[in-house]
Amino acid sequence: MTLSTRRLYHDDPYRTHFDARVLQIAEHETHPAVILDATCFYPTSGGQPHDSGTLNGVQVVDVLEQGEAIVHVLAAPLSADVVSGEIDWARRFDHMQQHTGQHLLSQAFVRELGGATLSFHLGEDACTIDVARATLDWAEVERVEQAANTSVFANLPVTTREYRPGEPVEEALRKLPTLEGVLRVVRIGDYDASACCGTHVSATGQVGTIHVRRWERRKGQVRVEFMCGWRALRSQHRQNRICQELAAQHSVGIPELPEMVQRFQTEADAARKQAQDLRNRLLACELPHLAENAETCAGVRLLCRTLEGYDAANMRALAQAYTHEPDRLALLAVTEPAPQVCFARSANITLDMAALLRATTAACGGRGGGSPQLAQGGGMDASDLAQVLQAARDQVCARHRREPC
Ligand SMILES: [Zn+2]
Repeated sequence: MTLSTRRLYHDDPYRTHFDARVLQIAEHETHPAVILDATCFYPTSGGQPHDSGTLNGVQVVDVLEQGEAIVHVLAAPLSADVVSGEIDWARRFDHMQQHTGQHLLSQAFVRELGGATLSFHLGEDACTIDVARATLDWAEVERVEQAANTSVFANLPVTTREYRPGEPVEEALRKLPTLEGVLRVVRIGDYDASACCGTHVSATGQVGTIHVRRWERRKGQVRVEFMCGWRALRSQHRQNRICQELAAQHSVGIPELPEMVQRFQTEADAARKQAQDLRNRLLACELPHLAENAETCAGVRLLCRTLEGYDAANMRALAQAYTHEPDRLALLAVTEPAPQVCFARSANITLDMAALLRATTAACGGRGGGSPQLAQGGGMDASDLAQVLQAARDQVCARHRREPC
C-alpha cells in the first residue's frame, strides 16, 4: 500500500498544532521515525529546510519526503496510534520570511536586470540565490533591493493555486515546475508567480526588510547572499554595533572609518619600511664586530652563537649578510618570540645546511628546512638551543678537519 501524508502546511502555513494518526512506525538511518496521515511539519525540499518541533513531546530531528509520504525522524522511539504535534513557530516563520523574500528578490532581479534565479539555498545564517549574471555592482544591487522592498511595503497578498496534471496554467510563471503531478503556484499580487511547494507569509509586509549582504562571482554566475525579516534586523544590529564601537574607540564618525583604515595602512607600511631600514643599519654596524669574533675552524670562519635582541627575521638577514663573503659559516639561534635556529654558509662551502639542521634538531622535536645554503627551523625548547648549536658546531668542525679548505 502506498502511504500518503496530507500536507497541512499547504492548507494553512500559520497552523502550529495538529493531531494525526500514525500510519507506520519506521526507521531512518538507525533513528526511529514515523509516517502520519497528516502533518504540519514541512520536509526539506525546494531549498527550504525542514521544520523542527515535537510529536507527543518527542523531538523531531529531521523531516523528509518519501514519495507521497512524509517521514518524521525522531530523537526517541514513539509508540502511539494517535499523536499530537507542535512545530517550532519561530523557525517556521523565519523560513516563511526568507522564502517569500526570495521570490520577491528573484522577481526584482528579473525586472531590473533581466537575471533569472538558477538556484536557492536557505541557510542557517544567510540565504543565497545564484543569478544568471556575469557580475554585479553596488548600484545594481541597490536598485534590485529597492524594487524588492517596494513590493514588501506594498503589502501584496500571497496566494496559492493548485493545477491538476494537464489543466491549463492561466498565469506566466517565473519558475517552471521541476516535478510532474499537481502544480502548486505561489502568486504575489501581480508582481510574481512561481511554481513552489514552500511555506509563505500571507502578505508581503510580513517579510520585513530584504537585505542583500554581499555577492560573489561563481562559475559564470553571481551568488547573492541575502536575509529577510528578523534575520536582516539582527544582522544590521551586529554590523552597526561593530561600526559604532570601532568609530567610538577612535573618536571618528562611521563615514570616516574607511579613510581611517586607509591611514592606518599607510602608517603601517611606512613603519615596516622604517623598521627594515633600521634593521639593515643595525646589521651593517654589528656585522664587522660579529665577524671579528668568529672562530676559525679548519679554514672556515665559524660564527656560532645565540643572538640577543634579534627575532627570526633579523637572524636570517644577519646569516645572509655574514655568509655573503667566502669561507664563512653561521650557526645562529634566537629565543624571542620563539626559539629558532638558522644555519647558513658561503657559496664556496659544500656542507648541506638543511641536512645539518634536520640532523641536529630532530632529537629535541625541532622541525624546519631550507636549501643547502640556508636553513631555518624551530619547534624546540629554549633550553635545547645550546645543545643544538654545539652539535652543529661539532659536525662542521669534524667535517672540515677531514676536508681541509
Ligand atoms: Zn519557492
